[in-house]
Amino acid sequence: MTKHYDLIAIGAGSGGLSVAERAARYGAKCAVIEHGPLGGTCVNVGCVPKKVMWFGAGLAHALEDAAGFGFSVGEYSFDWASLKQARDRYVHNINSWYHTYLADSNIDEIVGTARFIDARTLEVAGERYSADHIVIAVGGYPSVPDLPGVELGITSDGFFALEQLPRRVAVVGSGYIAVELAGVLNALGSDVTLLLRRETLLRGFDAMLRESLMEEMLNAGVNILAGTQVTSVTRQGDEALCIECSNGQRLEGFEQLIWAIGRTPATAGLNLAAAGVEIDAAGFVPSDEYEQTHVAGIYSLGDVNGKIALTPVAIAAARRLADRLFGGMSERHLVYENVPSVVFSHPPIGTVGLTEEQARADHGDAVKIYSTRFTPMYHAISGRSEQTAMKLVTVGAQERVVGCHIIGLGADEMLQGFAVAIRMGATKRDLDDTVALHPTSAEELVTMR
Ligand code: NDP
Repeated sequence: MTKHYDLIAIGAGSGGLSVAERAARYGAKCAVIEHGPLGGTCVNVGCVPKKVMWFGAGLAHALEDAAGFGFSVGEYSFDWASLKQARDRYVHNINSWYHTYLADSNIDEIVGTARFIDARTLEVAGERYSADHIVIAVGGYPSVPDLPGVELGITSDGFFALEQLPRRVAVVGSGYIAVELAGVLNALGSDVTLLLRRETLLRGFDAMLRESLMEEMLNAGVNILAGTQVTSVTRQGDEALCIECSNGQRLEGFEQLIWAIGRTPATAGLNLAAAGVEIDAAGFVPSDEYEQTHVAGIYSLGDVNGKIALTPVAIAAARRLADRLFGGMSERHLVYENVPSVVFSHPPIGTVGLTEEQARADHGDAVKIYSTRFTPMYHAISGRSEQTAMKLVTVGAQERVVGCHIIGLGADEMLQGFAVAIRMGATKRDLDDTVALHPTSAEELVTMR
């Protein structure tokens, strides 16, 4: 017999859990289908374990910085396995908590892999389930290139499975994951080479952020090879890997190679054709501004819809979808503008709104830029040569702030409030009229000339 629901979410990650949870609060009968651990990419092999590693890397830096503040730390060691165990325990606790949370929220947990039978029916482990609303929130998995020896490398999933700190690592890619993992490994003591196929990292970010991060990573000892496209990987003896590049370079002696070149939507196996749902050329399931696919009653949310692959975006879109479907808010949807994001690099980046380049393309001479670069007090004392840089992008006579870009110590925690202000239409004058917090780095954002 087919069990019927008001809403089924395929995937119990940020998007699927959030849409079901909000819909259930409105009284809808909901289920989530998941074949892996609850929480999806973010909880299991993404934001959460990455942030734990980032904190660990921060402590490694702090131990080095301590001497500047008068501490003699003496000899210390770092045990990767202990950090991994603590991290795994933390992630496991979140997984367990989600089981209780689903039960408490009256959401059924269906374990297995979903397959569409038709636009209203799914099959999981031989059982059939139907729903008035089906949300595709299956996320994605790390992409790897098509080249000889690709299997000798690992991805971010493999990074989280590593049982020991690799001594020498190549990281291939230039996005969030590449710079975050390269930074963590470098801080924890690996010899890291970052291979960029183009000239810069973090394409699409403001040039100030890209250039500053490149400089800081180089200063911190990451070997960055730009314009270096990998063509093959081979094993050298028992342990080391050898990387051949299109520019003729041959890089030898790596213990690990990490592919960090983007993510692929996990739609294979869903049998979308049976429901009439189409995917685009990159495999994403496109949805409109209301997260609706072109098949009525089927929606796509989170990384799988190819809009903005960030956990809080998936959660926000999911909650709004449930508000619309079950909360009587017929126009409610996420506007994908002014979405703040943080890159947990070393130092971190916080960014929201238009880059200077985008603003100039949209608004020409009406753009006015405010920027600053300084040594934060902490590093004036620690002796680490790490700078903080900030840029405000403003438009028009009112100098409406349309972009805020920060790299430096604390940027990750600094940005949230400014993102609220920008969303509310703050002008440079509003920032100027705000009393500064002293002494902080953030105060520079309200005192820039
Ligand atoms: P990204 O899309 O951020 O970056 C991948 C980059 O790798 C591409 O932009 C491309 O840059 C480069 N690339 C692509 N193919 C190749 C290739 N064959 N060889 C070498 N380089 C290549 O992907 P990530 O995997 O880093 O992250 C996936 C998504 O997850 C992110 O976009 C982000 O939305 C999310 N994420 C968010 C985090 C956060 O919020 N802190 C942390 C981690 C992930 P180019 O074309 O310039 O060479």
